[in-house]
Amino acid sequence: MNTEYDVIVVGGRPSGATLAARLGMQGLRVLLVERATMPSPPGASMPIIYASTMALLDEIGAPEAAYARNTPRVRRMVNAMPEMQMAVYLPESRGRNYAYAVDRARFDGALFAHSGTISGVTAVDNTSFIDFLREDGRIVGAVLQPAGGERQSVRAALVVGADGRFSAVARKAGASERDARDEHPTSLLYAYWKNVQPYDDLGGVAVAYGEGAGIGYLLMDSADGTTAVGIEGRAALLEPPAGKVEAFYLELLHQIPAIRARLQGAEMVTDVRGMRKIGNLYRQPGGEGWALVGDAYHQKDPIDGQGVYDAVFTAKLLARAIAKWQAGLSWDEALAWYDEAARAETYPMYRATLDRVQSSLYSQIPEWFTRLASRTLFKWLIEDPNTQTQLGQMLVREISPTEVMSPPLVVGALLKGPLRDLSNFLDRQIRA
Ligand SMILES: Cc1cc2nc3c(=O)[nH]c(=O)nc-3n(C[C@H](O)[C@H](O)[C@H](O)COP(=O)(O)OP(=O)(O)OC[C@H]3O[C@@H](n4cnc5c(N)ncnc54)[C@H](O)[C@@H]3O)c2cc1C
Repeated sequence: MNTEYDVIVVGGRPSGATLAARLGMQGLRVLLVERATMPSPPGASMPIIYASTMALLDEIGAPEAAYARNTPRVRRMVNAMPEMQMAVYLPESRGRNYAYAVDRARFDGALFAHSGTISGVTAVDNTSFIDFLREDGRIVGAVLQPAGGERQSVRAALVVGADGRFSAVARKAGASERDARDEHPTSLLYAYWKNVQPYDDLGGVAVAYGEGAGIGYLLMDSADGTTAVGIEGRAALLEPPAGKVEAFYLELLHQIPAIRARLQGAEMVTDVRGMRKIGNLYRQPGGEGWALVGDAYHQKDPIDGQGVYDAVFTAKLLARAIAKWQAGLSWDEALAWYDEAARAETYPMYRATLDRVQSSLYSQIPEWFTRLASRTLFKWLIEDPNTQTQLGQMLVREISPTEVMSPPLVVGALLKGPLRDLSNFLDRQIRA
């Protein structure tokens, strides 16, 4: 790798900034280029990050005090259904029992700035990847366009696309797509608010509301006293009339009494942002002279909030694959290793996420069943401590989604439910 840079990384948010940091720590010369001015929010994202993500950030020394500055710790995920509430407490994982609903401008800005402090990494914002630099048909670097400046040709042994869902690197490389799924398309609208009524007085929380009508709502305590207020639903139900996005968003929020109550006296402090028909796919991991990471490599519906984890995890794997390549493995073998390891970690979650989109937003459950289930079977199931522990462990990637809700667990929970109800009833009788 005796060119100007060893690696050019295109895209300076979770996957690109953490990949650049890891490669710098491996002793490589890295150019990290980001089209936007940093810090700034990404195109669309209203994210929650878990202990699993923070543990990966610890590995590169990214400072929690900076990326989560003035951001409350979220310890509970609450599902506030019309007839009952279910709270999952995040389990202790890798030394943390909390998540953050981060301000993405702050989070991404801190990661970008941190990568620039690592020896060997040059981090440049306001600079776009335009195309590969080729010689005799081979990729030997990238053509870059600084905002308001002259185009530059920069040489490197490898160009990595960490440039998100609509990756220009993938497009220019002609990357093929795999496992694309669009049979249950969803869209998302969100904004940040101030002075939202707290859910309760027990501290940071993310609360999901919804009545099973193809649309779900999420309110999360976020940075600087703000609350992220999002709506995800079937794409056909989230089609705001042209020029009326905000009115459409507010009208949907207004329809849910519990949300209406929480927003009384609150003020929206950002524009309404979002994404239509969110894509679900994998792309080819790379080829001669290029590779993809993060959303550019694998993207999915945000309903489970796992995109940032997958972005920083695939960055870790790609850094390892590059180290293997440097150590003598052929690039094809290193890429194959990367793809296999990345899919082993992300594919079960991908399947679970797609299933959850279908069951949460696309299944037609008759109302009488919901009522019956919410009073008895479902209540017994979700109040079971084992079920709750497993759901929490899945969110922080301690266990695979395939292990959650196994038949023995479900049967056990359903058998214990009536006993729990009986014991609660007897407790109340004794106290009375
Ligand atoms: C509505 C929504 C809600 C979400 N909620 C969650 C959540 O709760 N939890 C979670 O973990 N994930 C969530 N995600 C997913 C998460 O946002 C992504 O998985 C994550 O941002 C991917 O990181 P990345 O670095 O790969 O790409 P991105 O964050 O998309 O960054 C790509 C960067 O590349 C830059 N770029 C693009 N083209 C070029 C170019 N030609 N030259 C230079 N730079 C370029 C862009 O400016 C951008 O900064 C959500 C996503 C959406 C859309």
